[in-house]
Amino acid sequence: MSVKVPRGTQDILPGQSEKWQYIESIAKDVCRRYHYKEIRTPIFEHTELFTRSVGDTTDIVQKEMYTFEDRGERSLTLRPEGTAAVVRSFVENKMFGIPDQPTKLFYTGPMFRYERPQSGRYRQFVQFGVEAIGSEDPAIDAEVIALIMDIYKSAGLKKLKLVINSLGDAESRNAHREALIAHFEPRIDEFCTDCQTRLAKNPLRILDCKKDRDHELMATAPSILDYLNDESKAYFAKVTSYLDAIGIAYTIDPKLVRGLDYYNHTAFEVMSEAEGFGAITTLCGGGRYNGLVQDLGGPESPGIGFAFSIERFIAAMEAERTEWPVDSGLDCFIVAIGMEAKDHSVALVHELRTAGLSADRDYQDRKMKAQLKASDRQKARFTAILGEDELAEKRITVKDMAEGSQDNVLLSELTDYLKTKMEAN
Ligand code: ATP
Ligand code: MG
Repeated sequence: MSVKVPRGTQDILPGQSEKWQYIESIAKDVCRRYHYKEIRTPIFEHTELFTRSVGDTTDIVQKEMYTFEDRGERSLTLRPEGTAAVVRSFVENKMFGIPDQPTKLFYTGPMFRYERPQSGRYRQFVQFGVEAIGSEDPAIDAEVIALIMDIYKSAGLKKLKLVINSLGDAESRNAHREALIAHFEPRIDEFCTDCQTRLAKNPLRILDCKKDRDHELMATAPSILDYLNDESKAYFAKVTSYLDAIGIAYTIDPKLVRGLDYYNHTAFEVMSEAEGFGAITTLCGGGRYNGLVQDLGGPESPGIGFAFSIERFIAAMEAERTEWPVDSGLDCFIVAIGMEAKDHSVALVHELRTAGLSADRDYQDRKMKAQLKASDRQKARFTAILGEDELAEKRITVKDMAEGSQDNVLLSELTDYLKTKMEAN
C-alpha cells in the first residue's frame, strides 16, 4: 500500500511551483516599494496565543486548530493564521520601542486549519500577509489596502471587488451588540447551535454564519454603520476619502464583519468576480485591530493588516486566464558523444554554471539523437555538441536554437562565447 499526501494538503510540483514563486516575488516587490520588511515566526506557537487573540468563539479556535501536546506536555498549535504570531513577536521583541512607527512587516508561509477540504480550501495553505503596527492614522489603513490592490494589479488580475466596512470602536460595537441581541434573541431557536452560543458571546459573528445566511432576520439585522459614534464615523470617512484620493474603487458592505474577534474600525475583503472562480470568492481579508497588542501584553499600539492565500490567488489567475511568465528554459545543454567527451562534459557543465549560466547534460548514457531531443524539451537556448573529433581539436559545436545558426568554438572560449551571444539579445 502506498502512502498518499494527507487530506487537504497538496504537493506543488515543478510547472506549478514557478507560479508560486512568481506570486511571492511580486508580493515581496510590492512590499519593498511600500517599505514593509519581512518577519519570520515559528510554524507552531503556544495554543494560548490563538485562543486569546483569535477568540474562542471563532471557527478557527472552536474547530479548526491542529493542537498537540509535545514531549514536555506543553499544548502547542500549528499556526492557523499569521497576525497573532506577528503581534506576539512585536511585543516580545519590544518593536514598539523603535522610534519610527508603525512597524511595517510582511510574512509568508504555511498555515494549518482543520477544514472540510474543497476547491480553494485546504488544511495546509500558504498565506502572504502584512501588518502595520503602531499607528492609528487612517492613512495607514488606505496604504495597506492600496498595497494589496497593487499586488493583485501587478500580477495582472482585473476582475476584483474591494469591499470595506467599519466595525467601529468599542463604544460603537457595544451599542450595535445590544441592538443585535434585541434583534435575534426572540427567534434565536430558529438558528444553528453555533449562532445560539454566539448570541451571548459575540452576536456580531451571527452575521458571518455560513449556515443561517438566508434566514429572514439576517437581511433586516441592524447595521453597524447606524451605530458608529461620531469618532468612528469620522475615522471611516477619512479612510474612504484617502481611498478616493488615490483612485481605489470600493463598495461599502455593512454586513462584512470578518471572522476573527480582534477586529475594530476598518474591515475589508477582496473578492474575485471572475467567471468560473467557484463558490468561494474571497481572495483576501484584513482589518484593524487596535486592542490586540495590549491583549497580548504590550503597550497601546493600534494595528492593521491583511492576509491572502496563494492557492486562491492562483485560482483567480487561472479563472481570469491571466498570463504567467514563460519558462525561459536552460541556457545551454551539452550533448556529449563517447566516453571521453562525457568525462570532459563534467568539468564543462560545471564551468558554465560557475560562470552564472544555467546548464545541464545527459546522465542516461543516451545516443546523440536522444540527447538532442532532451535539449529541445529543456528549451535550451544553446545546444553544445562535443564529439571525439571535436575534443581532439579542443573545440565544440554550438547551435543557437533561437537563430538556427551554428558555430565551431574553442572549448576554452565556450563560456565567453555564450555570454557574449546572450548579452547581444
Ligand atoms: P473563509 O470565510 O473563506 O473561511 P476566513 O475568514 O477563514 O475565510 P481568513 O482567516 O480571513 O479567512 O484568511 C485570509 C485569507 O486566507 C482568505 O481570504 C483566503 O484567501 C485564505 N484562506 C483562508 N482559509 C483558507 C484555506 N483553508 N485554504 C486556502 N486559503 C484559505
Ligand atoms: Mg475560514
